[in-house]
Amino acid sequence: MTQWITVLGATGSIGSSTLDVVRRHPDRYRVYALTGFSRVAELVAAAIEFQPQYIVLPIESAAKQAQQLLAAAACQCEVLVGEKSLVKVSSDSKVDMVMAAIVGAAGLVPTLAAAESGKRVLLANKEALVMAGPLFMQAIRQNNAELLPIDSEHNAIFQSMPANYDGDFSQHGIEKILLTASGGPFRNKSRSELKQVTPAQAVAHPNWSMGAKISVDSATLMNKGLELIEACFLFNCRADQIEVVVHPQSVIHSMVQYNDGSVIAELGQPDMRTPIAYGMAWPERIDAGVKHLDLFDIARLDFVQPDHETFPCLNLAKVAFERGGIFPAVLNAANEIAVAAFLAEQISFLAISDLIEAVIQECPEQHLTCLEDVLSADCWARERANAWLTNYLLDH
Ligand code: NDP
Ligand code: MG
Repeated sequence: MTQWITVLGATGSIGSSTLDVVRRHPDRYRVYALTGFSRVAELVAAAIEFQPQYIVLPIESAAKQAQQLLAAAACQCEVLVGEKSLVKVSSDSKVDMVMAAIVGAAGLVPTLAAAESGKRVLLANKEALVMAGPLFMQAIRQNNAELLPIDSEHNAIFQSMPANYDGDFSQHGIEKILLTASGGPFRNKSRSELKQVTPAQAVAHPNWSMGAKISVDSATLMNKGLELIEACFLFNCRADQIEVVVHPQSVIHSMVQYNDGSVIAELGQPDMRTPIAYGMAWPERIDAGVKHLDLFDIARLDFVQPDHETFPCLNLAKVAFERGGIFPAVLNAANEIAVAAFLAEQISFLAISDLIEAVIQECPEQHLTCLEDVLSADCWARERANAWLTNYLLDH
């Protein structure tokens, strides 16, 4: 039976990989809605190809531009505007699955709406889970939604877990999760070498082709920190049950270690279409258009400890998760401001972790009981981060 998919963040790296999987399986999937932000022409081109019922853009002027382009191509799809419309296309009854691939906190509300409407949620937008982990997991459980991790590491862990895993490590003889990290473009660099690195160098990831924000997160190791928090929420474990292993080849996408000495891993090409196709078709498997892995070509796999001195963001994330409550949301917001400032060449690479640490240190303890708590923590952290930035710019 054909399944209807909404792709949030359709113009991005994950969004276009998702559309490529859809393109390969026209009998299986139809596009219900596509959403974009700044890349209007790309969104319209995707709408012309996939003929969704709706596209969603953030503001009226972008929507007008899209309407003109669609009319010129005689495409019938309706153009909607704003966050309310993102929620609508994530929760409409016709939708079977939602690819959550908006970058950052902007994805939280529509992704949560998909969970609350009992959809299959294909979760790439890790920031949404980091910010609101307990609420998000509760929404999944209470509404019988299906949560399929798309982040390659979490997809690998999901595949390496027992099929009937119910959130209890000891029940299933699980000792720990081995979360692999490529180490990013600056692996083996010293702090003094990192002083002058540029945004162009930071986004040039050695193995994966991704959007700018996650590429910078990979360079600071904050991506691994966010992923550690993501794994704790997804698999219901403590931070000390996860070990980060730097594995520069990015062939093993993560592993699960069991008490009988077994370690189960998922291996593959660094191509996001594999976890995307897995999440879309689960529990079946479908062709993702990905080249097969040639182990003779790879020849060797290396593993080293992460360098916490040079890359403090990983530990900042671990501490934020352990402090709980609003801390992960605050960490995420401060990181988003810091990464944007680094990409705009306002702050140095090393100042990214300084900014985040300063905001976390100022943050008062607070429980997280509802979405408003998350949104106000996000807002507070952005204000504090911007104040830090103003002072930094005065000093430099
Ligand atoms: P991109 O920057 O390539 O794409 C981001 C998407 O979000 C685009 O469609 C963009 O629209 C849209 N968007 C940006 N800001 C807003 C906003 N304020 N409101 C609504 N939509 C917005 O990012 P990626 O595809 O690389 O990453 C997407 C998510 O997936 C991130 O959370 C990332 O951490 C996660 N992820 C990505 C991986 C990858 O390989 N790329 C791997 C694992 C996880 P537009 O382009 O039109 O401006
Ligand atoms: Mg990842």
